[in-house]
Amino acid sequence: MYKLKWKEKVCATCPSADCLLKCQYMSFSGHDEAHGEMMKVCRGEDSRVLHECATCYACEEYCTRGNHPFYLISERREEKGLFTAPRPITNQWINMTQMQGKYMVGPIKDKALSCCYIPDLGILGQGEIFKDVASAVAFGAEFMCPAVHTHFARMSVITERLPKVIDNFAKLGVKEVICLHDECYGTFTAIADAYGIEVPFKPVYYMDFVLDRMKELKDRIKPLNIKVAYQRPCSNRLIPDKFPLVYEILDLIGVEIPDREYQGENCLCCGEIIRSVSGYKLADDVQERNLNDMIAAGASHCVFNCPACQSSLSEKVVKKGLKPIHIIDLCKIAIGEKEREVL
Ligand code: SF4
Ligand code: SF4
Repeated sequence: MYKLKWKEKVCATCPSADCLLKCQYMSFSGHDEAHGEMMKVCRGEDSRVLHECATCYACEEYCTRGNHPFYLISERREEKGLFTAPRPITNQWINMTQMQGKYMVGPIKDKALSCCYIPDLGILGQGEIFKDVASAVAFGAEFMCPAVHTHFARMSVITERLPKVIDNFAKLGVKEVICLHDECYGTFTAIADAYGIEVPFKPVYYMDFVLDRMKELKDRIKPLNIKVAYQRPCSNRLIPDKFPLVYEILDLIGVEIPDREYQGENCLCCGEIIRSVSGYKLADDVQERNLNDMIAAGASHCVFNCPACQSSLSEKVVKKGLKPIHIIDLCKIAIGEKEREVL
């Protein structure tokens, strides 16, 4: 049985309580109140945090002392039966991501290209950038990171399924798994580490892979000369050290990200999980503020990392007069593999 590595003493002596003081969905009067609520969570007592957390993952980034506030909040909610969404929604997620032996695996040698359980990733992971790994696809519930269940406070589903997913990759004999889904990389690194789950292959973040390939293809790059807003996904909060890669890739292809209020550490999530967890009013408010902020910054496009964010927000992005596009597609346009007209 895997257990969350958690050091209560680290919280007890915390001078910042940044995990909760920086939370965008709860307000606290100051350090004492925020710290006091986190200590209640630590001790397994009831806390308003267990009722109000919108599951945005951000406190995993805000805590710089090596603890895992969001995983602990989710653990405590599960222990107390304080589930975040109505039972049918929680169960629907568990059932539709159940392993059923209906997976797809290409000719895999040392490296696999993980498409999680998201068909759109199979299309993104093709072409010149991925030419050496495009056929080595692993797709299906058997290869899906189970991190989504953190939103529904079902950490037990994660500790049950993640070792099986890791084992399914290990059985393919791979040395490296290139994760096209941000959340898979976060799961194989941050979540696995937090629970002491061994990963016998090297997880590779797709933006590292794309940046290396784009440097190799530098001669083919024609700068796009556009201004964009970046929609950072919740799962990127698990791997904040990877966030700067967005700037490196976009800089390489001549794309500017103007400063705006809701970016970097202060970013807002796409809002669709919040719709299930905290209701329509908050989700609509988050999306409205986020999109208006993109427009105020002078962006012409909204650039996505996660296909789930893209499918949730695209229609609303278009209604606001912005163009939605995935960062991989922008790279494909920059090297002339996709038509510039789609810009
Ligand atoms: S989770 Fe991190 S930021 Fe929050 S109180 Fe504990 S040590 Fe401090
Ligand atoms: S997951 Fe988000 S909403 Fe929940 S406590 Fe952490 S920062 Fe706040």
